[in-house]
Amino acid sequence: MKDCIFCKIVAGDLPSTKLYEDDMVLAFMDIAPINPGHVLVIPKEHHTGSSTIPEEVAGRMFHVGARLGVALKRALDVGGFNLHLADGKCAGQVVMHAHLHVIPRDIEDGFHWNWRQQQYESDEARDDIASKIIEKLKF
Ligand code: 5GP
Ligand code: ZN
Repeated sequence: MKDCIFCKIVAGDLPSTKLYEDDMVLAFMDIAPINPGHVLVIPKEHHTGSSTIPEEVAGRMFHVGARLGVALKRALDVGGFNLHLADGKCAGQVVMHAHLHVIPRDIEDGFHWNWRQQQYESDEARDDIASKIIEKLKF
């Protein structure tokens, strides 16, 4: 897609440090890493969000992301990694070509998810939300 920086990286019109490439996906170094070794895995075909990515390609993205996670644990001697995908601006997506972050993590690496744990008002309120989601779930 014209004007998409990740499509330009796929086409070779913008430089990147590539780690892995096959017919479906490309993995390259993030230019502004959360931690050194932060990698992005993208579908070669342009998809803005995650839901239009064909299952085979999405599966490859996850598989490659997990294998890269193991590689960076070994290469960088860190204890773990996060796989993260932001779908939509309000979810933190800045580049509108779907991408899976592979982020090396270690104890006391200074990065914290701003995670919270809220409570449902009742079991019924929780189950009501679950029913609404199930109603809209389409494959
Ligand atoms: P998002 O916030 O959309 O989930 O993440 C976008 C990511 O793309 C960010 O981590 C950012 O550092 C990275 N990024 C943005 N522009 C470029 C670029 O031109 N090249 C590379 N390699 N990474 C980029
Ligand atoms: Zn694109």
